Amino acid sequence: MVYARITKPARARGEGPGPTGWPAARARLAGLPGGGLNIAHEAVDRHVAADHGAQPALIWLGREGARQVFSYAELAAEAARFAHVLRAHGIGPGERMFLLAGRVPALYAATLGAIKAGVVVSPLFAAFGPEPVRARMDIGGASVLVTTEAHYRRKVAPWRATMPGLKLVLIIGEGAPDGCVALGPAMAAMPATFETVATRPEDMALLHFTSGTTGLPKGVVHVQDAVVAHAETGRLALDLHPGDIYWCTADPGWVTGMSYGVIAPLCNRVTMVVDEAEFDLDRWYGILERERVQVWYTAPTAIRMMMRAGADAARGRDFSALRFLASVGEPLNAECVIWGQQVFGLPFHDNWWQTETGGIMIANTPDMDIKPGAMGKPLPGIEAGIVTRDGAVLTEQPAGQIGELALRPGWPSMMRGYLGQPERYAKSFAGGWYLTGDLAMCDADGYFWFVGRADDLIKSAGHLIGPFEVESALIEHPAVAEAAVIGVPDETAGEVVKAFVTLKAGYEPGEALERDLRGHARARLGPAVAPREIVFRDSLPRTRSGKIMRRLLRARELGLPEGDLSTLEGDAR
Ligand code: AMP
Repeated sequence: MVYARITKPARARGEGPGPTGWPAARARLAGLPGGGLNIAHEAVDRHVAADHGAQPALIWLGREGARQVFSYAELAAEAARFAHVLRAHGIGPGERMFLLAGRVPALYAATLGAIKAGVVVSPLFAAFGPEPVRARMDIGGASVLVTTEAHYRRKVAPWRATMPGLKLVLIIGEGAPDGCVALGPAMAAMPATFETVATRPEDMALLHFTSGTTGLPKGVVHVQDAVVAHAETGRLALDLHPGDIYWCTADPGWVTGMSYGVIAPLCNRVTMVVDEAEFDLDRWYGILERERVQVWYTAPTAIRMMMRAGADAARGRDFSALRFLASVGEPLNAECVIWGQQVFGLPFHDNWWQTETGGIMIANTPDMDIKPGAMGKPLPGIEAGIVTRDGAVLTEQPAGQIGELALRPGWPSMMRGYLGQPERYAKSFAGGWYLTGDLAMCDADGYFWFVGRADDLIKSAGHLIGPFEVESALIEHPAVAEAAVIGVPDETAGEVVKAFVTLKAGYEPGEALERDLRGHARARLGPAVAPREIVFRDSLPRTRSGKIMRRLLRARELGLPEGDLSTLEGDAR
């Protein structure tokens, strides 16, 4: 169904975003006194220096009902103490620190403190199992890990001896197992000021992992200069203004939770709400209402879960503080946009970006009319196109044609590389474009519409999952000969992971084995990544060169046209 355009009233003069473009954005930041650039300085210290130290920076809502408020001055002090802890343990600029914890206050202090010390921050999703954790820390060359005792014992301790480069494990709280340091007492012993290391704009600041269709996950390198884009896109695409109450529901284990759940809001001096708990309808409506949230950035899976509960569940609530709603991470159905209007009196504004772009590229901004179902238009400073590839030759497509979404490189938060994989990085560019791996269409009005992925990556509840990583874990089970993993549509999560396996001689398919395999995958990969369904097959379709054709499995599963099968091996058709 096609929905009518949602028109916006013209803003009063003077209320627009003001000058845009990267030089203007850069000029809005402070820079370090000696001429460098540091994300943590832009996020907290400069606000404290400008007399805003008393403003709440973080309202933390604990799972069990606790509520703690940290001012900008308190957050700055905690970050400084954390930076001292790293220095006291001999951790220096450029080393990599991994985070594996839920949304707890120490995570925010650690992130900002490490960046102050010039240490690179690499967040991991707390729902990962031991295998994704180990693989990412290995690729990233981890020297430091900040985690909780429970995560450490289950996911790190079993293999720690194999990673001698991991020099320091900081355990959130007052105590720590052998070989680790308790963060609480370590920070309490440190001074509350720390001179930020004079990092330069091109120094590595963040390392985010994303999945590939083949091979191991990719470590996406972002530099200090990314802060220019974080601050500016937060202002333009999320309408962040100093003093706003803002809630980003994404976990900092993923890029959205870091770029727009930590950096962009603090740079724009908003008060951020952080909820430790997972989605719960009543809880979420209660947070929006009680905390008087003004700007809310969430994701289609959550919106669909709310829609499923029906508009009645929201009746009688006071959402009058809300001013702007935005969504990211997966296709936002037109119905979700409209539902926002019905329940909150405001439409959801879809926006598009990915780990590699570091920040929002395409968005429905506050001033723009919304075409429900469209991702919006490129932000100022971003040039996007639709291209088709024929070998090395790229052809730009006119309005209305489907092709790969491509971006002209050059914005500040663009990735600077895949860590240690220059060839993989080089393959992301052609003809002067960065190729996103997404299929899209641009209409005659310049709005971009998402069509699908150009590769086999799976998007489940907003998490990008690489089939290869799941297949590798399945193959480690003694019964499994080969595995192929695809995404199948799901009304709530967008897609869920489904695996096809063939068995080794001597093993029989059956319910008990399926359960065992699912348990094996969950233990290794964690619940966010493990397959929801596993089916047994006698063989899997392969190309003549031996590659499993996930695309064909998917086409068959969904009853889609099977496409060009000329490279398919005879017996597998
Ligand atoms: P990640 O790198 O994990 O943030 O995932 C990025 C991918 O999520 C993109 O390449 C898209 O495939 C998908 N994605 C992000 N935002 C949107 C959106 N607004 N609409 C459709 N797909 C999206």
